[in-house]
Amino acid sequence: MSRDYLSVQLASPFWSAYRELVRTVVIPYQYDILNDQIAGVEPSGAIRNFRIAAGMDEGDFTGMVFQDSDVAKWLEAVGYALRSHRDPELERVADEVIDIIVAAQQPDGYLNTYFTIAAPEKRWTNLMECHELYCAGHMLEAAVAYFVATGKRKLLDAMCKFVDYIADTFGPEEGKIHGYDGHQEIELALIKLYGVTHDRRHLDLACYFLEARGTEPNFLREEWERRGGESFWGTNKQSKPDLAYHQAHKPVREQDEAVGHAVRAVYMYTAMADIARLTGDADLHKVCERLWHDVTGRQMYIVGGIGSTRHGEAFTFDYDLPNETAYVETCAAIGLIFFANRMLKLNPKSEYADVMERAMYNTVIGSVALDGKHYCYVNPLELFPQANSRNPDREHVKPIRQEWFGCACCPPNLARLVMSLDEYIYSVNEAHAKLYVHLYIGSEVAFDLNGRRVRLVQQSD
Ligand SMILES: [Zn+2]
Repeated sequence: MSRDYLSVQLASPFWSAYRELVRTVVIPYQYDILNDQIAGVEPSGAIRNFRIAAGMDEGDFTGMVFQDSDVAKWLEAVGYALRSHRDPELERVADEVIDIIVAAQQPDGYLNTYFTIAAPEKRWTNLMECHELYCAGHMLEAAVAYFVATGKRKLLDAMCKFVDYIADTFGPEEGKIHGYDGHQEIELALIKLYGVTHDRRHLDLACYFLEARGTEPNFLREEWERRGGESFWGTNKQSKPDLAYHQAHKPVREQDEAVGHAVRAVYMYTAMADIARLTGDADLHKVCERLWHDVTGRQMYIVGGIGSTRHGEAFTFDYDLPNETAYVETCAAIGLIFFANRMLKLNPKSEYADVMERAMYNTVIGSVALDGKHYCYVNPLELFPQANSRNPDREHVKPIRQEWFGCACCPPNLARLVMSLDEYIYSVNEAHAKLYVHLYIGSEVAFDLNGRRVRLVQQSD
């Protein structure tokens, strides 16, 4: 085990209750949803898509083009749950899901149910919109979490095979696609994979995707031109692609302002901070600090939420933070917590921990009802129910938490964050023989420091 996985036992009345809620209610409930077993909730089709792609079932693809990622995030949450509580029944269910996922993998290693079922000839033709590498990234995170918890390699090995195929497909060499995904995620996932495989190729591929982004000739623009400007989403043709929405308007090292889709942005910054730490890249570290200050100093709501407009779920400009139309997606707050966590690993300054704490208490857990079955996708800052139901500019802000969503990115994201909370409380700097406490959450941590085993108990409710 690397030091990224300090042995932490949660003992907080407040947070232990949330973890139990996720473990005993949210995870089983989401499993039923992924299997289309909840009456009155729009069928997800997510597991069925894998069964169809595996030839175990027949039918058409259901859901969003990135539907696979719901299964991946659920499985990742299960991995964290098993790490603290090895529940054999949950593990059996997860093993079954993994068998289906691996059966859906193609002989060359490719794994994506949308393209396998609905458009096999269109693989890698619309990276800007179709989330292929994004889905791969989430499945990688699931594979790593499940392997760390159980020692089982089936999904990890399958994903390593997929990564080999991706590395053969993308890169600077002639004959490969000189591109990257429209939705960042695989970058941070490859770094997690590197954390367990220590295979330098995994880190190098993450670096490639990051460094290629926004360079000229611009890959996303050229791809868009090859499609004749057609959108996968069937929306009206735009006169030019929105590169800033994808943070591909300039090379990442030249970016000094948070722009575009908020979740994409913070997932990318998370990977940048990881890479800055792992490669000792001081310049990239400076870019991360600059972006951190822009996000948290000028574009963040008081609740630690980001993304002030529903148009593109995006950042707008400095200090433009209207309460009544705030978007503040749960996933964006979760991504900001990832970014803060990686900045703490670079430099344990309390401002990072403060933002992490603010987002966690005020947005993330606020997004889920105490029954574990109702969620906010958009987290309200201000409500006027009549306007929220009748004014089209405000109807994205719901006065009550919703049962489930056609685009169900947020609930499983919350589940995986809450179940991995122990990773956010402490960090150790071995070189300086220091332990840092970032969150005041009742817990016990054990770690090695200067060749001695140290155990620390934190009491807090
Ligand atoms: Zn979301």
